[in-house]
Amino acid sequence: MNNFRTYLLAVFRNVKRLGRKIRIQIYSFGKGIDPCPACGLRAKLIHTSVLWPELINEWGLSPIWADWFDKREGSKCEYCCSSLRDRQLAETIINAINTKEGTNFSSLNKLCVAPIARKLMIAEINSVGNLHQFLRDMPELYYSEFGSEFPEVPSEDLTSLSYVDSTFDLVLTSETLEHVPDVELALKEIYRVLKPGGMHIFTVPVVWDKSLTRRRASIQEGQLVHHLSPSYHGSPQGEKPDFLVFYEFGADFVEQCQKVGFTVDLVRDNENPSLVTFVTQRTR
Ligand SMILES: [Zn+2]
Repeated sequence: MNNFRTYLLAVFRNVKRLGRKIRIQIYSFGKGIDPCPACGLRAKLIHTSVLWPELINEWGLSPIWADWFDKREGSKCEYCCSSLRDRQLAETIINAINTKEGTNFSSLNKLCVAPIARKLMIAEINSVGNLHQFLRDMPELYYSEFGSEFPEVPSEDLTSLSYVDSTFDLVLTSETLEHVPDVELALKEIYRVLKPGGMHIFTVPVVWDKSLTRRRASIQEGQLVHHLSPSYHGSPQGEKPDFLVFYEFGADFVEQCQKVGFTVDLVRDNENPSLVTFVTQRTR
């Protein structure tokens, strides 16, 4: 009997020790790592190379720009898989709403369940990277995918949106405008569906040391015309159907947004010049 009690006490002590060990592990998990602005966890960034040689060639990227874009797309939160681009976009959305509403949110995960954000009218036109997992439960989210084959997900064409004028507080797009045949028309449509004061927060790939945008393809009289060899984003050619690039944006893309009537703010990263999020606002 005594032996059995000793045995039970030993088991109890070991369980307590193990519990302490686990608590220490949890406490120190992610110590010294900045919280991810998307999920809010102190999770590490894991890098996998995502750019392929043909794309780098077609785009005419120098080695340093190829490396910056590779980090932008390939460095992802270990927990929620948000890339550096997604994370900057999340941070920009949070800051815009914090400024507008006087709130103090630190992650998109927390923001999306807060009553103050849940009343905002938001259009997510094509899923904005890995952020859709947080946005999807917002009650006033209008989520669409161009060419959607799922009845529960409507298809929206950025050059001819189905929404009435002045509907949204926020329009979100990410890496979409370069795949639209007429970007000026798309910007005009986004401007039209935003409420006065509403914002389009988005990313597009811009090579900032190129001053001029290059048009790779267009639609003329209903026909696709290639001005340069076809280039695709998404994955290396041949693996799966991809997204044809119509525009390779240069620094003049800012003026293109202003021409439509938007005011333009750019959120930049201190270390990686390819990481830029656009905040454009309909003022009237
Ligand atoms: Zn995360």
